[in-house]
Amino acid sequence: MKVFIIGSGSGIPIFGHFNESVLVEEKGCSYLFDAGEPCAATLHTNALLKFYGLEIIRSLPFIDIYSIKSIFISHSDADHIGGLPMLLQVMHLWQKRNVSFRFQPDNSIHLYLPSETIDIFRDLLRVLHLSTLRYKLHIKPLREGCIYSDELVRVSAIRNSHIRNNGSFSFILSSRDKRVAYSGDLGSELETADLVGEYVDLLIVECAHFNPERLREVLRKLERNIGMVIVTHIHPSLYGREKEMEKNFSESLNCKVIIAKDHLKIEL
Ligand SMILES: [Zn+2]
Repeated sequence: MKVFIIGSGSGIPIFGHFNESVLVEEKGCSYLFDAGEPCAATLHTNALLKFYGLEIIRSLPFIDIYSIKSIFISHSDADHIGGLPMLLQVMHLWQKRNVSFRFQPDNSIHLYLPSETIDIFRDLLRVLHLSTLRYKLHIKPLREGCIYSDELVRVSAIRNSHIRNNGSFSFILSSRDKRVAYSGDLGSELETADLVGEYVDLLIVECAHFNPERLREVLRKLERNIGMVIVTHIHPSLYGREKEMEKNFSESLNCKVIIAKDHLKIEL
């Protein structure tokens, strides 16, 4: 299983920390968690360069956007959903090339959104002239529990308190032999515990709504259930201090901790 940090920033993006988006790849199929700007460009640059016979950019991931089976939007804050319309548009326009640019097996993709946003999002797609797409877009409401499964993975959603009285979720993706937890945005660092009740090979956790010291404290109590941690979606005051943060986390935890920058790739 491979994990790509497409965007590692929080509410104020900068170059190197664009908005939140994480792609998990398992045996040629991909699953996207959040779609902050500019995920379409980051995901598609190398496929486009290769198609036109140009040199690819080695620091960027090489991803086939049609390998994406499902997109999970943790909540509707702009830094998590802002890149979604453009991603859907790129998936639509790129299909003009030829019939090999299709989602398998039936040219459809699933999109999970907080239920209260679905009608508004459909209206937005109409405004953006994206209501008729070349592929089938199945939009489904998020709810707690197992929401998606195919022959390779299952994905469960866990409600958190980041947005009160509204839909805000974390996710756990499990394959036959790996488990990855993705926090989205949390109401408090204490909600990290809800993601690691069972062992996870990788915890991807935000660090914009509480300080790193508080996150370290919580992780110290939970680390027996965690193989590796990626801290992402870091607060703008932490940009540029990734190495210093990594050192501080490593000194207090036994498991490996990486502070994410954009385009980080991990193989589990
Ligand atoms: Zn956020």
